Amino acid sequence: MEEAILSARVKGIQPSPSVAARALVSSLKSKGHEIIGLTVGEPDFGTPMHVVEAAIVGATSGKTRYTAGAGIEELRSAIVDKFDRENGIKSDLNTVTVGTGAKQIIFNALAATVNPGDEVLIPAPYWVSYPDIVKLYGGIPVVLTGDPDHDFKITGDDVRRAITPRTKWLLLNTPTNPTGAVYTRQELQDIAEALRPYPDILIMTDEIYEHFTFDGRTHVSLASLDDEIASRCLTVNGVSKAFAMTGWRLGYATGPAQIIGAINKVTSQSTTCASSISQVAAVAALNGSREFVEAMVEVFERRRGRAWTQLNAIPGIECAKAEGAFYLFPNIMKLLGCSAPNGKDIESDVALAEYLAEEAGVATIAGTSFGMPGYLRCSLAIEEKKLDEACARIARACHRLS
Ligand code: PMP
Repeated sequence: MEEAILSARVKGIQPSPSVAARALVSSLKSKGHEIIGLTVGEPDFGTPMHVVEAAIVGATSGKTRYTAGAGIEELRSAIVDKFDRENGIKSDLNTVTVGTGAKQIIFNALAATVNPGDEVLIPAPYWVSYPDIVKLYGGIPVVLTGDPDHDFKITGDDVRRAITPRTKWLLLNTPTNPTGAVYTRQELQDIAEALRPYPDILIMTDEIYEHFTFDGRTHVSLASLDDEIASRCLTVNGVSKAFAMTGWRLGYATGPAQIIGAINKVTSQSTTCASSISQVAAVAALNGSREFVEAMVEVFERRRGRAWTQLNAIPGIECAKAEGAFYLFPNIMKLLGCSAPNGKDIESDVALAEYLAEEAGVATIAGTSFGMPGYLRCSLAIEEKKLDEACARIARACHRLS
């Protein structure tokens, strides 16, 4: 097909590396390769049965039609209660919305607000989709890098240094994919103070991993700090991770009425509404107990401990102990410059990820995809035995480097 057929907009962005990595693992497996995939960004658990059952009841009782773009009232009401109960955020039926995944909400929010040349502050390492969505709308991703010894968390000073008259948004993700960093109340307050003199800057907090916090940490929502910050904060969340519902595609958000209204306008001209059946399921998920997610987080915490110990025992690998989410993000810089047994140079994290996939049968994602070369992202969403085996394989493959 002629290249000219594609828009400049689409030529300017990359396909999602995590989606591509998942496709690569599936294709290698289908060809008979025995590969352990540490690439997945979704819990390896089934959706809780009470949620599935609510969806069945919805589907068999006629909840099968278009809904309001902002979502069915029952779900919006459950979201209002959830934000109040769990996040200390006040909202109402007009200031919450529902989308086909948190990703669509982020996409629509940026579509609704970013003009060409607008700058969007994105802390690195970042979730792979943020910069490309910004670019799709002609915005300029401005990457902020925090201190690697502090889990790359950004500070108020980092924000102050990056602000220009074109700054439109700060996108903050806590707990963070890929590092697992969890911002404390004090760290969020420091960032809020930096934004205080700039009331026109919007803040988006992506809290999709909110329940995944370890070692007794708790998640804090930026919008819960005070009314002024809440008045310009879009809090994005979804049921994908907390209720193992990635395939149901259901996200939600709360924020200023004007932004929510604009998101709804984009939804009305794109997907119309999120799946009616997924919305019914999400009501059951949000109004139900936290038992499922708590049990799941315990499993992830145990896996994190095991994999963290095993990876750190490998010479050349230094791995921070993720505070949350479900990834480890080991620093592999000391392995760069080594040679593989076949003579190939391991000149980058991308080359190391390729070597591990080919030689060890372990798929990871290079830090470069997250805006942080010199690291690998290893997902913990895999059963313990396989995770142990993956770490052992990585260790053997690294020992073969010279
Ligand atoms: N934000 C982050 C940081 C994520 O890691 C993901 C999923 N990988 C999403 C948003 C998207 O979530 P959803 O399935 O609700 O679209």
